[in-house]
Amino acid sequence: MFQSVNSKVDFPELENEILNWWEENNIPDKYMSKNENSDKRYSFIDGPITANNPMGVHHAWGRSYKDLFARFRTMQGYKQRYQNGFDGQGLWIEVEVEKELGFQSKTDIEKFGVGKFVTKCKERVQKFADIITSQSIRLAQWNHWDNSYHTMSDENNYTIWHFLKTCQERDLIYQGTDVMPWCPRCSTGLSEHEIVTEGYIETDHPGLFVKFPILDSGSKRTPNESILIWTTTPWTLSSNCAAAVNEDMDYVKVEQDGEFYYLAKSRLNILKGEHEIVSHMKGKDLVGLKYQGPFDELPVQKDRDHRVLAWDEVSEGEGTGIVHIAPGAGKEDFALGKREGIEPIAPLNDLGDFIEGFDWLTGLNVYDVNDKIYESLKSKNVFYRVEKYTHRYPHCWRCGSELVFRLVNEWFIKMDPLRESLARVTQNINWVPEFGMKRELDWLKNMDDWMISKKRYYGLALPIWEFEDGSFYVVGSK
Ligand SMILES: [Zn+2]
Repeated sequence: MFQSVNSKVDFPELENEILNWWEENNIPDKYMSKNENSDKRYSFIDGPITANNPMGVHHAWGRSYKDLFARFRTMQGYKQRYQNGFDGQGLWIEVEVEKELGFQSKTDIEKFGVGKFVTKCKERVQKFADIITSQSIRLAQWNHWDNSYHTMSDENNYTIWHFLKTCQERDLIYQGTDVMPWCPRCSTGLSEHEIVTEGYIETDHPGLFVKFPILDSGSKRTPNESILIWTTTPWTLSSNCAAAVNEDMDYVKVEQDGEFYYLAKSRLNILKGEHEIVSHMKGKDLVGLKYQGPFDELPVQKDRDHRVLAWDEVSEGEGTGIVHIAPGAGKEDFALGKREGIEPIAPLNDLGDFIEGFDWLTGLNVYDVNDKIYESLKSKNVFYRVEKYTHRYPHCWRCGSELVFRLVNEWFIKMDPLRESLARVTQNINWVPEFGMKRELDWLKNMDDWMISKKRYYGLALPIWEFEDGSFYVVGSK
C-alpha cells in the first residue's frame, strides 16, 4: 500500500539535493526579485560578520534568525536589499595574520614590511569571505552574494574620512594625552568600547601592602612611622607620585612590632598579627604629610616630593584607605595628578618595557617584574606583605593579554558636545527589548572622549596631517 522508505536517511545529502534543485531552477533569484515592484520597503542592515575565520555554529545560529526575519517580510510582500556584509578591517585580522606568519610583536611586522603585511591581511579577508559565503549558501541563506559589502572597501573608508572631516569642521577632533588601557602584545591602546562588554576577566593579582615612611619637615625619615598603602599592580610603584586619603574618613595610628602605621580605621583587619591602636584621626589630618617614595632611588624620581593628598574617591572598600597614586599608570590617578599639578611619570614603552630612567627596571617587561619589585622593597624595609587578590581585570579581547594603563598621545573625538543629540536620537528609536535604550543611554552618559587612533598597520588610515606648529588638517576625500 505504501512505498517503502529507507530507514537510514542521509539528511546532508537530502539538503544538497534541494540546494541543487533551487540552483537549477533559479529559485533564490526568483524569490528575491518577487517584491521588486512593491512600494513596501523593509530594510535589514546586516551587521557585518568578521571575515577572519570560517563561520562558527554561533554565527550560523544568529544568521538563521536574520534569514528568518528577512523571509517573513518577503512573505508579507516587502521589497528588501538582501545584502550581506563582511568586516575585514582592524586588529582582529592583524592578530591572525601575525599568528600565520609566526610573529611575536609589532616589530616583526616592521621587519617583514608593512606593505606586504597589509596585502597578506587583505588576502586573508578575501579567503574567509569566500568560505563564509559558501557556508551561508549551504545554510540555505538567500542573499545577493556578489553584492556583499566590505568594511575594507574604498567606499567605506572614504565615507569615514568624510565623517572625520565633518567632525573637524565641528571642532570635535583633538590630539590629547591620557592614560588609556593598553595591550603590550598588540602594542596599541584600546578604546573603552572595546573593553566594556567582554574585556573583564576574573584574574589573580598580588594584593601588595607597602610602607611609605613618613618624612619630617627636614625631609628626614621619622623613626619607624609609615603610611600603609595597597596596590594590585606592583610595577606602578616605580612611578608613584603621591598618596591619597579621604578627608572625612576615620584613620588610626597603630603600633606593631616596634613600628607605627597609619591606615583607615575600618581596614585594620589587613594587619597581620598583634597590634595596638595608638591614636585616632581624620583623613584631613594626614593631608600634606611628606613621605619617602618606594622607588626614590630611580633617576626618574630624582628631586620629587611625595605628599599625601585629599581625594573623594578613596573608599573603605578595600586596601588600607590610603591610595598609591601613579598618574602615568592609572586613569583616575592621571585625573587627580592633573588637578594637583603633578607631572606624571610614564614608565612603559609601547611593548610594555620600562623606558630609560628606571635603572635596573629599564628594559624589563611589565609582566616580569613583580618578584624583583618585592625584593627591592624588602631590601629597603618597606615591604609589608603580599596576598592573592582576585578581581575582574581588563584583558585584550583580541589576544587575551592583561592590559596595562599607559600614558599615550592619541586622537580623540570629543563626546560632550555630542552627548545630548545622541541621547535624543537614542530615545527616538524603538528598542527591542526595551531595556536596550536604558543601557545605551547610560553608556552615552558615562563614556569618555572616543579614542580613534591606533598605533597599528592594518585598518582605516587616519587622514590627519599635522603641521609643525601643532595645528592639523583632516583630509575628507581622495
Ligand atoms: Zn592584545
